[in-house]
Amino acid sequence: MIYAGIDIGSRAAKAVLLQDDTIVSSVIRDTGAESVKTSQALLKELLVGTGIEAGEIDYTVATGYGRVLVPYANENVSEISAHAKGINWYFPQVRTILDMGGQDCKAINCDGEGNVTNFVMNDKCAGGTGRFLEMIAEVLNIPLEEIGSVSLSSNGGIPFNTICAVFAKTEALGHLRKGVSRADILAGLHEAIATRSYNLLRRVSLEPGFAITGGISKNSGLVAKISQKVQMDPLLCADPQLCGALGAALYARNKSAIATPGVKMQYGYDDGTGSYFISIDEELCSGCGKCVDACPAGIFTMSRRNGRIVAEVKEEARKRLPILCPGVGNCRKLNSITCQAVCGENAIEHSW
Ligand code: SF4
Ligand code: SF4
Repeated sequence: MIYAGIDIGSRAAKAVLLQDDTIVSSVIRDTGAESVKTSQALLKELLVGTGIEAGEIDYTVATGYGRVLVPYANENVSEISAHAKGINWYFPQVRTILDMGGQDCKAINCDGEGNVTNFVMNDKCAGGTGRFLEMIAEVLNIPLEEIGSVSLSSNGGIPFNTICAVFAKTEALGHLRKGVSRADILAGLHEAIATRSYNLLRRVSLEPGFAITGGISKNSGLVAKISQKVQMDPLLCADPQLCGALGAALYARNKSAIATPGVKMQYGYDDGTGSYFISIDEELCSGCGKCVDACPAGIFTMSRRNGRIVAEVKEEARKRLPILCPGVGNCRKLNSITCQAVCGENAIEHSW
């Protein structure tokens, strides 16, 4: 079974291809201006050299701020859930996560299954995010990937009054003009970001089993400062930037496992005024596609699950079933054919 996790972040787009329990491929690239195009390019790149075709992927879950802009995803999950699930795959003992992304920062608690139990998020200010560090690296004329190691060579950081992206840049430039070393400037900034991260972590439960995820966790200088503050060595996986995409792929695997052949998939909702459900028995469904052609409301589509092509109710139709479908009885009166009439396998049920 093959699953894909696609994480469209504000700065970087990431993807992981999972074959059963093994990561067979992963990709990181800039998100760029057009997330839909990026997501398509990401998938193409992800499959290179794997011998796997896009049609062979059983289920795809998208996450990240651009998660709704992945046209081929079966569904999406929040990046908070995805990061917790992803890091749990490496370290089941993790209970506290600091996810440092391109434009926000989150503190998360999770259980032993990687399910989120609590979180707080700082997305109001760019200070301390990936974008902020990119800006500081530019000001100091140091490659982004080197600022961590440069800061570690400092003998004493310069205290920063702010990590507001605008004021910190001015303050850093001021120090630079006075001849303060780049290492001391970076050490001071990292200290300020670590303090802010620690304050965020204190708003959840700072429990042992502490991990840092997201691109910034590749910054060794910042990781060292945060470790001092929380007084714990963080668990860092092989590539912490891929945790969200891996978590999404794991969600895809779980979803696919739920939809095993023999399961009756139920689509619709119960809102207190009544229940509106269409069920498709996937064991009975032959994948003939006749319901797709027959339904005047365009409710059905075909989808690949567990290696089989089966009918499903379109994502966008699930919350609007009573508006789109008048029920089988009324549909029969209004139209010459209905989904149930064409389904030779008796796989479709309506409950109104
Ligand atoms: S008509 Fe019935 S068997 Fe054919 S795809 Fe639809 S649900 Fe499946
Ligand atoms: S009863 Fe008619 S409108 Fe409703 S899902 Fe079936 S074919 Fe579509």
